[in-house]
Amino acid sequence: MKSPTTDAAPPGLAALATELGEALSVIAFRRVQARGELPVYTWFSPAAKRFLGVDSETTAPQGVLAAVHWADRDGLAESIQASAERLDISTETFRVVTPSGVVVWLEGMARPQAMPDGAVVWEGIWVDVSEGKRALQRLDLILGHASDGIILIDEEGKIQLVNLAAEELFGYAPGELLGQPVECLMEGQDRKNHHAYIRNYLNTGVSAKLGRGSRELTARRKNGSAFLIDLSVSEVRSEGKRYFIAIGRDISQRKATEAKLEFLAYHDVLTGLSNLSRFREFFETLLASRRETGLALNLLSLGIDGFSFINTTLGHHVGDAVLKSIALRLVTLAGPEAMVARVGGDRFLALLPDMAPGRLISDRVERISRGMKEPLSSEGQEFELSASIGVAVWPRDADGAETLIRYSEAALEHAKAIGPGTVHIFTRELGEKGAKALSLQSRIRRAIENQEFTAHYQPQVDLQTKAIVGMEALVRWFTPEGPISPVEFIPVAEEFGLIDPISEVVVLAVCRQLKDWRAKGIAIVPVAVNISWRQFRNPRRLLASLDEALTATGIDPAFLEIELTESSAMQDIASAIATIRMLNERGLSCAIDDFGTGYSSLSALKRFPIRKLKVDRSFVIDIDNDPNDAAIVNAIIAMAHALKLKVVAEGVETQSHLDYLRSLKCDQMQGYLFSPPLAAEKIEGFLKEGKRLEG
Ligand code: C2E
Ligand code: MG
Ligand code: MG
Repeated sequence: MKSPTTDAAPPGLAALATELGEALSVIAFRRVQARGELPVYTWFSPAAKRFLGVDSETTAPQGVLAAVHWADRDGLAESIQASAERLDISTETFRVVTPSGVVVWLEGMARPQAMPDGAVVWEGIWVDVSEGKRALQRLDLILGHASDGIILIDEEGKIQLVNLAAEELFGYAPGELLGQPVECLMEGQDRKNHHAYIRNYLNTGVSAKLGRGSRELTARRKNGSAFLIDLSVSEVRSEGKRYFIAIGRDISQRKATEAKLEFLAYHDVLTGLSNLSRFREFFETLLASRRETGLALNLLSLGIDGFSFINTTLGHHVGDAVLKSIALRLVTLAGPEAMVARVGGDRFLALLPDMAPGRLISDRVERISRGMKEPLSSEGQEFELSASIGVAVWPRDADGAETLIRYSEAALEHAKAIGPGTVHIFTRELGEKGAKALSLQSRIRRAIENQEFTAHYQPQVDLQTKAIVGMEALVRWFTPEGPISPVEFIPVAEEFGLIDPISEVVVLAVCRQLKDWRAKGIAIVPVAVNISWRQFRNPRRLLASLDEALTATGIDPAFLEIELTESSAMQDIASAIATIRMLNERGLSCAIDDFGTGYSSLSALKRFPIRKLKVDRSFVIDIDNDPNDAAIVNAIIAMAHALKLKVVAEGVETQSHLDYLRSLKCDQMQGYLFSPPLAAEKIEGFLKEGKRLEG
């Protein structure tokens, strides 16, 4: 039986429901539970049709509606029952399956009223909250699966919500962080100041950290250990309250990788020293601050002498180990304030900033040079090494780091050319020369490939018989822009290791020419070739090419003579003597060229197994005017004769030169007076006609 109070639409709700119509996702309802019976629905607003498949004013089935999702039925029934007993407002949240098969979340409340007959009547509404529910579900999903730690804190700084990733990140058990002050996750200053910081923000609205993107800070795990996180914090407002959402991730790993990459970008992997980029940066920064004090700096470019030998004979494994030991030693020798870098195979740079005031070259330079000569043990072996060192001085030589590095390298090249273990200080001529030399060397390489080098010949005449008794072969390089003098390109070829191929061209050309003349029945004379000190020091290639040229052409070695300048012979007397001996064994005789310019000691000269001295042109040029030059040439000739050497005067240009030399008993002459160096065809004419000295 239905009473009017329980059947009719509740006036307020009915009006509201009609007004809102069916479109709205609100269902108003009346529910009645007679004493001892199950609840029935006596009235629904129109929207019920859409959600529940029931008509308004239709009596609903007993108990929980059929449309309610099975999983929520028990919960809903219990909630209704409790409300009936205690007459409390019933809050109801449940899913229904709509007639169209969609699951919808309804949430609402119903106010119970006790009737005189013992029945309970509820009037209530349910609202479709699917959107919100889904959003929440999605939030749960996001929180649960996010790899970043997410923490929501309230205005008090208490943790209100935390996801699994955050709990794991900070080492807490699930739920353990809820309600905790967020400071427990912080370190140092942040930990101390955080509370005051939030208060200040809430009062003033000023914040340095909020919403400014992510920043790095140190966080603290439950076990007290610290780690780096990347954190961004933003503010959200909900129901008039402010919350702060912090999203963070552990970046220790990334930081470590970054640090490693940075190290690799700026260091040499083998030795751990800085590389060129880091060195340059350091240098430039240092210069910027040095400009105020003006205190000098030394930049050293070092090359380990003969290092490639270790690599090729003992292998790269040993080479690497030796390099590491060298690096270590260099760092120690350079001192704590120095910057040392490895810039290539066996090349190092060292910047010495600790200069005594007023000094240009640091004492350390000498100490480093000496220290690098000390025996070095590595891989169970002892190595006797040395470093060639080039030094550039700031601010004397240049102002820029880049230029100074280049200058120190030019000085190093020069040091290397002088010999192992040499220190060479940069000079301005070296800088200008360096630039020219570099462009010249590439032209020389091309000229070698294109066989542009040829030989010219200058006769040597006996002062007594006036006949041609010998010749000197001089290399010639004719380019479309005109001839380039050997004075210019020979030193560059020496410096860049190009002298051997040039020399080979000359030697072979001479031997072929002699063979050709002999074949024509021309009486040949010995021809001298000039050999560089570089070839003398390491004579294997020289000897091989001489052997090859002589064998190939069948020329008697007695017709080939070797000229070695005095200065190069005196550089390393022992090895020069050894090389001359080897040449003599092959039947080749040697002459010392440009004599008088190298200040040789007589005793040294005595030891050289040579046949001839060539007096340098500079003494001949003024021999008839300058008594000093005359005296020197006189002494040289007397001494040479005492040692049973023949003397050739170079650069004889005038009859007066010739007369004077004859009076000093000079043996032979070479010079423009008789003939300049000429192409083979011209010389051939001289030989054929038996040209003689006239004066
Ligand atoms: P050098 O061996 O002392 O050669 C003599 C130089 O004096 C030659 O210069 C020659 O042309 C020049 N000369 C000869 N007579 C006179 C004269 O009467 N007056 C003047 N003013 N000069 C005279 P060049 O050909 O320019 O060669 C210069 C230097 O280049 C040579 O000096 C030699 O040291 C070097 N050189 C030449 N050819 C070769 C070569 O094939 N190999 C090597 N390693 N060095 C070479
Ligand atoms: Mg010569
Ligand atoms: Mg000479």
